[in-house]
Formats: sequence, structure tokens, C-alpha cells
Amino acid sequence: MPATTAAATTATADVIVIGAGVHGASLAFHLAERGARVIVVERSAVAAGATGRSSGLVRMHYHLLAETRLAWASFPYFRDWAARVGGECGFTRTGFLWMEPADGEARLRANVAAHRALGIETSVVGADDIRRIAPALAVVDGEVAAYEPESGYADPSGTAAGFMRAARDRGATLVRGAAVTAIPVSGGRVTGVETTQGAYAAPVVVDAAGGWAARIAALVGLEIPVTVWRHDTGYVGVPATVARPLPVVIDNPNAQYLRPEGAGLALVGLEDENGLDGDPDRDTADAEPGFAERVTERVIRRVPGLADGTFQSAHSGQDGITPDQRPILGRAGPDGFHLDCGHSGTGFKTAPAVGLGMAELILDGAARSVDLSPFRLERFAEGRPLVGEHGEMPIWR
Ligand SMILES: Cc1cc2nc3c(=O)[nH]c(=O)nc-3n(C[C@H](O)[C@H](O)[C@H](O)COP(=O)(O)OP(=O)(O)OC[C@H]3O[C@@H](n4cnc5c(N)ncnc54)[C@H](O)[C@@H]3O)c2cc1C
Repeated sequence: MPATTAAATTATADVIVIGAGVHGASLAFHLAERGARVIVVERSAVAAGATGRSSGLVRMHYHLLAETRLAWASFPYFRDWAARVGGECGFTRTGFLWMEPADGEARLRANVAAHRALGIETSVVGADDIRRIAPALAVVDGEVAAYEPESGYADPSGTAAGFMRAARDRGATLVRGAAVTAIPVSGGRVTGVETTQGAYAAPVVVDAAGGWAARIAALVGLEIPVTVWRHDTGYVGVPATVARPLPVVIDNPNAQYLRPEGAGLALVGLEDENGLDGDPDRDTADAEPGFAERVTERVIRRVPGLADGTFQSAHSGQDGITPDQRPILGRAGPDGFHLDCGHSGTGFKTAPAVGLGMAELILDGAARSVDLSPFRLERFAEGRPLVGEHGEMPIWR
């Protein structure tokens, strides 16, 4: 694409990050920690996209070991946030259950064995153990779960804001209300961005624009398979009669997940009937019509005591999703252009390690601390989408 000169350059950096969601903020933190000059350009405000709507689950269980490795490398940040980043990220250790029907046991056992080999505290538990761990749950004999006692949830907006604040403390600049409108390229290399608040120059530009990532990539003539995934979540009042503790639960047999929110609420999301291919600019203030009834009926199947609960509120959120529901990370398109996007509705918990690895890739030429290579863009053109080692069950269906 030819360079454009719509606005005078007002600032220069080593790296420009587009988007101040949890991924852009994490990357800015890790770059600034290494002494790089960073400008984050954000069309709205910190956590205005998927991050601000995220359910914040922090767990290690995935079907693909490369994702588990990212979650596992991220976990110490959540657990030791004050020491590592400073301030609070709202991590709450509740324990986590990944539930499967009886016919999912072989895959569950194989995944748990692989996770244990990484050092993760996780084990396979049967129906009686699940009832003991979470007495409020109705459990069918034969159902099994991976149990991670150290996992839980965190505050996604607080996490992004914390990373961004720590990045700014280390010299990064955040420009709010600056929508990127062009990415000039000269001699095959990006030279910066043009925004609604002027132009910024840098030899490296990172697309961390969530549901808008394909639009950003198109500015350098790059087509990426990132579409928009829409997901409703609701808050349900949990009566005192419902037995505690209530851990974080991914309830695959019922295609839902839930977690406590403070003492008196549960947050519930459904794995099925999430919208695909919408406009990233759509309003997310409201859930789809009928969501309150669907989510209430579903959660009562697993937590019968919520029949006495109350429906409180619901809203929607949108993230970028790829065909294999895994992110795209690394260089692509003109020299200097990088992708950190397509996090497919599960990218909150991996943001610390992805930011670390992307910073190493940009500054050192390769990610050393984590392996980002499975997530390269080329896998789609090569017809080699990522698939779980022991079988696949896409979380969103
Ligand atoms: C409802 C919901 C629940 C979720 N629950 C979980 C969960 O429990 N656990 C988990 O791990 N993950 C979860 N996720 C996924 C996770 O939240 C996302 O993968 C993650 O927040 C994505 O972060 P991001 O920084 O890539 O994108 P975003 O947070 O969307 O940030 C992208 C930013 O780019 C900005 N931007 C866009 N276009 C431009 C432009 N032209 N110029 C400048 N800025 C621009 C946007 O304003 C936005 O702030 C959930 C997602 C949703 C929607």
C-alpha cells in the first residue's frame, strides 16, 4: 500500500500497539519493561472491547497443549500480581472444574496427564468428588471433571488497566480516542499509523484490535481469517440456600460455564448459539432477546438451588475469532507488522504470557519464554488448523 501523508507526525516510538485491551496493554507493559519506547493508540478507552465484557476465567485446561502452556506461563502474573505488575488484578482463587460427560473421560484423562507433566496442579475427579468439591451442583453418575484447585477468575478491566498503568510508569504513552485510519508502508516496511488524532511513527506496528483486527490488517492489504464472535453473559442472584463454595465451572455436558461474582451473584455464559460474522461496531449493551430465559433454564439444570434465584442483568461482548478458535500471533504482511489477535473468546487468561512472548519476538527476533510458533497465520493457508492432541471439542458451538 502506498504511504499516505494525511497528518503530520507528532510522535515517534519503537513500537506502536493498536488497541488497549488486555493484549495491547500486556504487550505495552512487557515492551516498556524492556526499555522500548511504546505508543498505544486506542480508539476508545482501556478495556472498551472484549476485555471489558470478559468473564475473566483463569484456568489451565485446554485441549491444545500450546494453549495450556500460555495459560500456565500467565498464571503466576495473576497469582503474584502486586509483585510482578503492581496494584490489583482481582484474582480470586475459587478452584475450577472442567466437566465432561462419561464418554469424554479418555480425552480428559489424557489432557490432565499432559497438564500434570507441565507441573500444573490438576487431577481427574469422579461424580462423588465433584459433589464434595461443589455441593450445589447436580451431578450425573459417570460425569467426570478436571479439577484445578489453584484456578479461579480475575477482573479483566482491572488487569488491562493495571498493565497499562505499569506500562505508562515505565515510559509508555497511551493515546485514547485515537482510531487508526491508515498504516503507511514505505519500501515494504510499516512506518507508523495515522489516527483521528494525528500520525505516529514507528518501524513496528502491532494489531491488537480484537474484533476489529481484520479491519486493521486490511489497512496493510493483509487478509486474516478473524471474524466477530458475539457472546452474552448474565448475572444470577444466588440465594443463601445454595451451598457454598461455588467454584468456577465449565459445564460442557450442558454447554455453559459459571462462576461466583462476589458473595451473592453467579456469572453464567452459554457455549452454544453465539453469534458469528457480525459487525465489530455493534452495540453490546444488551443480550439477545430470550437470553434470560435460556440461561436461567440452563443453569438450573446444573445448580438446582438457583430455581429460587433471581435473574439480575445481562449484556453482550464481542471478540475476534479464527476458524480453529485459536489466536494468531507473530509477524505477517509488510516488514514490521505483527498480529496479536483472534483470541476467540478465551484470550483473557493468556494475555500475560502472550505479551511477554510478543515483546521478545519484536525486540529479540524470537519468543524465548513461551512458544508462539503454533499460532502463526500461515497455518490457515497451509490447511493445518490447530487441533487438540487428544481430540477436539471446540468450546464455542
Ligand atoms: C463476553 C466475553 C466473555 C469472555 N470470557 C473469557 C474468560 O472467561 N476467560 C478468558 O480467558 N477469555 C474470555 N473472553 C475472551 C477475552 O476476553 C478476549 O480474548 C480478550 O479480552 C481479547 O483482548 P484484546 O486485547 O485482544 O481485544 P479487545 O479487548 O477487544 O481490545 C481491542 C481494542 O482495540 C481497539 N480498537 C479497535 N479498532 C481500533 C482502531 N481502528 N484504532 C485504535 N484502536 C482500535 C478497541 O477499541 C479495543 O479496545 C471473553 C470474551 C467475551 C467477549
